[in-house]
Amino acid sequence: MSNMNRRNFLKTTGGVALATGVTLAAPSLSNAAGAGKIVIVGGGVAGATTARYLKLGNKDLDVTIVEPNASYHTCFMSNEVIGGGRKLSQIEQTYDGLQKIGIKVLKDSVTSIDAAKKTVMTKGGSKLGYDHCVVAPGISFLSDEFANVGSFGKITHAWKAGPQTALLRRQLEAMHDGGTVAIVAPPNPFRCPPGPYERASLIAEYLQNNKPKSKVVIIDRKDKFSKQGLFTGAWKNLYGYGTDNSMIEWRSAASTGGIESISAPDMTIETLSGGTEKFDVINYIPRQTSGSIAKTVGLTNAKGWCDVDKTTFESKVHKGIYVLGDASVATKMPKSGYSANSQGKVCAAAIVNMIAGKPVGTPSYVNTCYSIAGKDYGFSVAAVYRNNADKDIIAGVKGAGGLTPGDASSEMRRREVEFAYSWYNNITKDTWG
Ligand SMILES: Cc1cc2nc3c(=O)[nH]c(=O)nc-3n(C[C@H](O)[C@H](O)[C@H](O)COP(=O)(O)OP(=O)(O)OC[C@H]3O[C@@H](n4cnc5c(N)ncnc54)[C@H](O)[C@@H]3O)c2cc1C
Repeated sequence: MSNMNRRNFLKTTGGVALATGVTLAAPSLSNAAGAGKIVIVGGGVAGATTARYLKLGNKDLDVTIVEPNASYHTCFMSNEVIGGGRKLSQIEQTYDGLQKIGIKVLKDSVTSIDAAKKTVMTKGGSKLGYDHCVVAPGISFLSDEFANVGSFGKITHAWKAGPQTALLRRQLEAMHDGGTVAIVAPPNPFRCPPGPYERASLIAEYLQNNKPKSKVVIIDRKDKFSKQGLFTGAWKNLYGYGTDNSMIEWRSAASTGGIESISAPDMTIETLSGGTEKFDVINYIPRQTSGSIAKTVGLTNAKGWCDVDKTTFESKVHKGIYVLGDASVATKMPKSGYSANSQGKVCAAAIVNMIAGKPVGTPSYVNTCYSIAGKDYGFSVAAVYRNNADKDIIAGVKGAGGLTPGDASSEMRRREVEFAYSWYNNITKDTWG
């Protein structure tokens, strides 16, 4: 930014930096002039955060969220529900807080968007005009590669929280002592890279306390995974990992040679090198792509994700449409709830400023990802990001953030669990009000 532009920028924004961490205050733009109509597709983390921060930025904006579900279950902490540490109702968020500040919530599904005419069409027959449209549909599954999986009635994915989370929990409760649980972990990229390994940990904790002859086998479609050293360290400390009695077994893609078939009728998984094995519970987390509406609207690239401008999250395909959260390509930022929340603030501030005729500024982004591996045993990875416009990537800021040390004290690990719980309370309040 030139000196002149920078002076103007500070003058017009009242000197408020457009940093976007959940702990930072809302952009102080309440005097922004001009109203605008914004339609948001999806009331998940990215959509709800954008809606809320649009209203906090300019209360005169006309903001509508279109979302098919009456309430939202967070995927974060859903592994605790599966492990038995939390009830499903404890991860449910309503839209009351958003409605209280004047955001309209239409219970419906978006079926198409006309980017030229700036209209959003819904399954229920509504046609909504917009000045800016935010598309935040999360992910959809590419589960057609294994013909016999069925429709996730017997085999679960539990990768969108709600009924699937409860179903997997019930299956674990019904399993006999001595049973084996398989978790099929997806290839990259997918939402919440540490999620399958946190899930394995919390299932192992439940089995250890209730069905100690049982075990969890992770059949991975990768050769390495997020926070691997911290997870395997935790598994050694808590679940005998690496011994004959380990409650968790991790099989890399190289060791199995890949999965040939998954069958719900037989409850089997066949791998190239291991043959066909029977399991008592199968949790198959499929390959992922953007929420399907993004493809319908033509927002996706050849890999199924949405390319965006990294300063505003405006689509590189359609002007006036912004794609954020898991569906977007945010390069180094992982597909996480915290990333989606941070991107929602960036996008909201950009739209508020554009409507007010002000420059959008240079945003920064944050992400912290907590994982709970067992009782009083947590760890986290934190990072701050900036747009590197030359390379068109969102890159980590060197020296900011870090990872819980592998040799952390038991007190530090216990505190990380408390931080995770407090993060949950803060981010849900920050997102849904
Ligand atoms: C087991 C698990 C654990 C996780 N733990 C963490 C964690 O500890 N920390 C963390 O930061 N992240 C975590 N995540 C990741 C996090 O949940 C996602 O990254 C986050 O939800 C992404 O937000 P989003 O808004 O892009 O998508 P979502 O939150 O999935 O929201 C998308 C919304 O769009 C709606 N929608 C879709 N299509 C349409 C349509 N056509 N019309 C209208 N609405 C539509 C959906 O109903 C949904 O409500 C976890 C994920 C999993 C699976």
